[in-house]
Amino acid sequence: MSKPGPQNYGIPPPAYSETENLQEPLPTEPPVVFGPDPMNLICIACGNRTITDVRTTPNNRTHMIAMLLCIIGGLLCAWIPYCYKPCMTSRHYCSICNAYLGQYSD
Ligand SMILES: [Zn+2]
Repeated sequence: MSKPGPQNYGIPPPAYSETENLQEPLPTEPPVVFGPDPMNLICIACGNRTITDVRTTPNNRTHMIAMLLCIIGGLLCAWIPYCYKPCMTSRHYCSICNAYLGQYSD
């Protein structure tokens, strides 16, 4: 009697039934964070790449500081925050179509 040798059955890998229901992520632009300086970005209005035109406008805080300075230092000091960029809101406009794109205020 001869024992039958151990038989190595080639075990086939289990059939994966990978259902790919992974949805393709939509190509979304990262949110634009505006700074106090002109930025190079694609205009949402005209679609052109542009360097934004930054215009500073006084905001509520500018008026508040102006009022405080007026109280403390008199009327002559009230104009200071209006000339001091960090006290103002920087508004970004498209340099091509002049559309408002966003703003930055510290
Ligand atoms: Zn534009």
